[in-house]
Amino acid sequence: MVGSPPLASVPGVVDSRHWVFDMDGTLTQPLHDFELIRRELQIPAGADILEHLASLPVQQAAASHAWLMRHERELAEASVAAPGAVALIRALHADGCRLGILTRNARELAEVTLAVIGVADCFAADEIIGRREAEPKPSPAGLQFFAARWQVPPARMRMVGDHYYDLATAQAAGVPGILINVPDDPWPGMAQWQLRDCAQLLQHWRAAASG
Ligand SMILES: [Mg+2]
Repeated sequence: MVGSPPLASVPGVVDSRHWVFDMDGTLTQPLHDFELIRRELQIPAGADILEHLASLPVQQAAASHAWLMRHERELAEASVAAPGAVALIRALHADGCRLGILTRNARELAEVTLAVIGVADCFAADEIIGRREAEPKPSPAGLQFFAARWQVPPARMRMVGDHYYDLATAQAAGVPGILINVPDDPWPGMAQWQLRDCAQLLQHWRAAASG
């Protein structure tokens, strides 16, 4: 579904009690400059950054991971919430929904980011799945972890993200994907729904709650 459809045309988008969010660029304004990371770490254009680091000799991989952690820590400490993100997370949390984070970032940096934007108390520490807690996206492993932990069929969950990897992960796990914070639809057929941002998702949530 493309663009920002009217409320009536997206039935089911908020019909879930089990929500998994990507973090960077989804709950926060995008700060990652992946080209800069590739340049610094001499990773070929188009190569998957985490896969490339995993293929390096141990010592070189360790040095690259250390640089990446320093770089990402600086980004985490400078995090700014995306439009509507804090209000959406607070509303879902207050309503008793289960909330998880599935990120290719490191768990400890996700915790820094969530604290900086002011929603750390809405997520249990072991429901923040980073690149070391499960095989990174686009593997479905992270979503399968949440489905098992929450004892919920994947189709009853929602995965919210801003990147192709989020949608590919959702599709591989059988979880309906919601694409936000991206103009147009760069990946037709991958998202179950596309909304402008967290603020619009919250509008749908409130409309469903009051209807
Ligand atoms: Mg993202």
